[in-house]
Formats: sequence, C-alpha cells, structure tokens
Amino acid sequence: MDNLLYEGKAKKVFATGVPTEVLVWFKDDATAFNGEKKGEIASKGPVNLAISAHFFGLLAGKDVKNHYLRTVDERTMLVQKVSIIPLEVVARNIVAGSLAKRLGWPEGKELAEPVVEFYYKDDSLGDPLINEWHVRALGAATREELGVLAETALRVNGILSEHLAGKGVKLVDFKLEFGKNSAGEILLADEISPDTCRFWDAETNRKLDKDRFRRDLGDVSEAYREILGRLKGNESA
Ligand code: UDP
Repeated sequence: MDNLLYEGKAKKVFATGVPTEVLVWFKDDATAFNGEKKGEIASKGPVNLAISAHFFGLLAGKDVKNHYLRTVDERTMLVQKVSIIPLEVVARNIVAGSLAKRLGWPEGKELAEPVVEFYYKDDSLGDPLINEWHVRALGAATREELGVLAETALRVNGILSEHLAGKGVKLVDFKLEFGKNSAGEILLADEISPDTCRFWDAETNRKLDKDRFRRDLGDVSEAYREILGRLKGNESA
C-alpha cells in the first residue's frame, strides 16, 4: 500500500481518498523500554485491532468521542484523521510499572482513588512524566483541554473497569492518546489493547498484557488472545 503518512513502532498510518479519514494498519512488532527491546508477538496486529475496535465501540455507545469508524480488514481500521496531542494520558487503579518504581510501592497495591498522569510524547527524552504546568508551558494543551483529557481518562477508566470486571479481568492501568479532528474536536485516538493497558486475571492476578513481553514471562500471544476471547465471551477467539 502506498500513501504512507506515518510509521510508528506498532502501526502504520495511510492516507485515503477522503482527507478527513486515514487507515491504521496494525503490525505484529513489539517494542519495550523506549524501543531498546524488540520482538514480534504472533497475531498481535489482528488481536489488538479487534480489542481496540471492541473498546472504541463500547466507549462510543457511552458518548466518549473517539476516532474509530470501522474495521476494513483484520489488520486495518478506518479512523477520523486527527492531529495527535503530544501527551500520553495514563490512568491507574492498581500500582504497577513506573509508579511502583517511582514511589517504592509494591506492585499490586490498590490505589484509594484512580490516579491520572501526563507524559510528554518524545522518544528522544524517553517520554518523561510531566505536570499540568509543564503541559501548558509546552503548549501541548490548554487548561481547559487538560480538564477534558483528565475527565475523559477517568470516564474511560470507569467504563472499561466495569466492563472488564464482568469478564473476570482487572484493569490495572492504561495509556490513552488524544487528537484533534478537522473540526477542532478532541477525540480519543490511537489504540486500546494489551500493548497499552495492564490487564490482570481477577482470580489469579495472572498478567494478560505486554508485561509478559517486557518481563519475558512467556505465552505472550496466548495472553493477548485470552483478553480478546474474554471480551467476545468465549475462551478460544
Ligand atoms: N504505556 C504505554 N506506552 C508507553 C508507556 C506506558 O502504553 O509508552 C502504558 C503501559 O502499558 C501501562 C500504563 O501505560 O498500561 C502505565 O505504564 P507505566 O508508566 O507503568 O510504564 P511502564 O512500566 O510500561 O514503562
């Protein structure tokens, strides 16, 4: 396919004949630790697309505006074109990953209330944690926009946590990205998948996400499929 607009670590973005729409193509490539660790996860592309489409559909039904329009083929989704706001918006319910390191808290500790964090999207800096003043000083978002991002992240957290709880999965934390469409509306964008969320089995706390790749825990592809299977209501999707 030509018309390549952008190639990221896990996805490629292609132009379409419609200026307000682009195609997102999901790779099997996996990276971690700011690109230092590289590999492939079998069938990750189709599985992450199916999981993302499921979540975007669920969220659209609850008035969380997002870029997803439809699935074109097993690796390709059609989305509204947005210019990405250079922030990673993370919401957390349970301590894990960088929060455990930063505060010296044990992984698995439940937070009294959800925590929202902003990271500046810049690979050369390693996506540093920043606060609301930094966001405004960078010109990445205004005070009002920051309010929308944080509020949306908390709404998404509520909707996804409840949905996943019904499937026997704990939503530990996740990262969202937002963009602005041609009308200037802020839309939830990117993907929502085991690459961008931590999912733990509710009974056993087994990790069903990219930490299996980051930490060499094995059965990575199986864990991603397990999440899709739970979402679709069977164990073998
Ligand atoms: N995350 C992500 N992309 C990143 C960094 C983090 O999708 O570049 C997700 C990660 O999968 C987890 C959440 O954001 O669900 C919080 O990640 P954390 O800050 O703990 O960083 P990590 O331990 O992944 O480096």
